[in-house]
Amino acid sequence: MSIQTNLQEVKKSLPEGVTLVAVSKTHPSEKVMEAYNAGQRIFGENKVQELVGKYETMPKDIEWHLIGHLQTNKVKYITPFVSLIHSVDSLKLLQAIDKEAQKVNRVIDCLLQVHIAEEETKFGFSFDEVYEALNSADYRQLHNVNVVGLMGMATFTDNTNQVRKEFRSLKGLFDKLKEQYFSENDNFKVLSMGMSGDYKIAVEEGSTMVRVGSSIFGARDYKTT
Ligand SMILES: *Cc1c(COP(=O)(O)O)cnc(C)c1O
Repeated sequence: MSIQTNLQEVKKSLPEGVTLVAVSKTHPSEKVMEAYNAGQRIFGENKVQELVGKYETMPKDIEWHLIGHLQTNKVKYITPFVSLIHSVDSLKLLQAIDKEAQKVNRVIDCLLQVHIAEEETKFGFSFDEVYEALNSADYRQLHNVNVVGLMGMATFTDNTNQVRKEFRSLKGLFDKLKEQYFSENDNFKVLSMGMSGDYKIAVEEGSTMVRVGSSIFGARDYKTT
């Protein structure tokens, strides 16, 4: 099936109000342009270098999201243009983004990545660490970042009950934080959860933003990247 058809299929399955981030990592710009030409304008990349490269060569009306782990020393390469950083996994990183965003006179939207999976390797705050960060004096001093929600990745498993449980727990945290920390503004509204294999469950559990790669672009060949 063509990228255009795949894209239409995914979009059709999303209820209104759920934003689709087309995850274009590892795919060359020509392929990504097929999705662009089919109307897609929000793309996600997981590596800084690839994100910058595609930003420079592709149309400027694209909203670029960083969805992968970000090292503090690489923040400066993306602050001039990035629309949303999904993968903020420490207060230290949030501070680094704030500092670089200030230099380019921007306020950058960020999601706190929360660890919900069983796998140890996945990055993210624990639930306790999210509270710790939001309660800290350091957090209150940030003016060039806007925490607009949470991101999480479920365990990679066929056990849909477990996946559902993990998404549900993140939605629970999201609702609590919204009430306790963000009740006075509308900024906190993004719950980024769901990938090709589990986005339908994620949407059922309250996701407002899904990050879908292989269901649109096909399988990735990591050897060629
Ligand atoms: C690669 C990636 C995705 C998309 O994965 P697919 O299974 O191809 O849809 C989503 N989120 C993150 C953080 C990723 O790294």
